[in-house]
Amino acid sequence: MAHIGTLFIISSPSGAGKSSLIQALLDRPSTDGRLQVSVSHTTRSARPGEEHGVHYHFVDKPEFKALINRGAFYEWAEVFGNYYGTSREWIDQQLAQGIDILLDIDWQGARQIREQSPSAKSIFILPPSREELERRLNARQQDSAEVIQGRMAKAVSEMSHYDEYDYLLVNDTFEHALNQLSAIIEAERANTAKQAVRYQDLLSRLLAE
Ligand code: 5GP
Repeated sequence: MAHIGTLFIISSPSGAGKSSLIQALLDRPSTDGRLQVSVSHTTRSARPGEEHGVHYHFVDKPEFKALINRGAFYEWAEVFGNYYGTSREWIDQQLAQGIDILLDIDWQGARQIREQSPSAKSIFILPPSREELERRLNARQQDSAEVIQGRMAKAVSEMSHYDEYDYLLVNDTFEHALNQLSAIIEAERANTAKQAVRYQDLLSRLLAE
């Protein structure tokens, strides 16, 4: 079936505020179920407050490998020593119904999605400054200084891929970044080919002689 919905890839280094932006986007009344976030599978363990099936599907490595072998993933990658993957079936169903999907994935996953779905739109979110990024990584207070330093190095390596993305946002003020994100999604919803499928009845009535 043709895909009417759009796949949006959102990547950023940890600490750029991506999760809060995605949550705010979903909470907007205008979103109204037309946009859903894909829940990835991961082999990493759950952090405090994370729920199975809500934040991730938490699985062990043998289970993850079985899913790879079954072709269950659109893309998968090893990120910071753990495996992460986007499952294919649910996404295809949503897109066919005209629901837009957000993929919160890293640059490796983004590359795989672009190859398979060239119409996917990708967005990279940067923190407003290096100092602010460091402050946000420290603010979590869940990890040791060494872990935070490691995260900083990983953040820099993730950010070096910014130019592979269609859109680049700077999360300077939350509202500004949220408005930009929302504008990108709304603009894509108005894509002529997709609107023509959504509004085929209206178009045939309007164009009747
Ligand atoms: P965290 O463990 O902090 O939740 O996520 C670590 C990184 O893995 C983030 O950059 C996140 O975007 C990425 N990630 C989460 N799910 C997936 C996925 O399904 N595929 C890929 N490639 N990356 C993912």
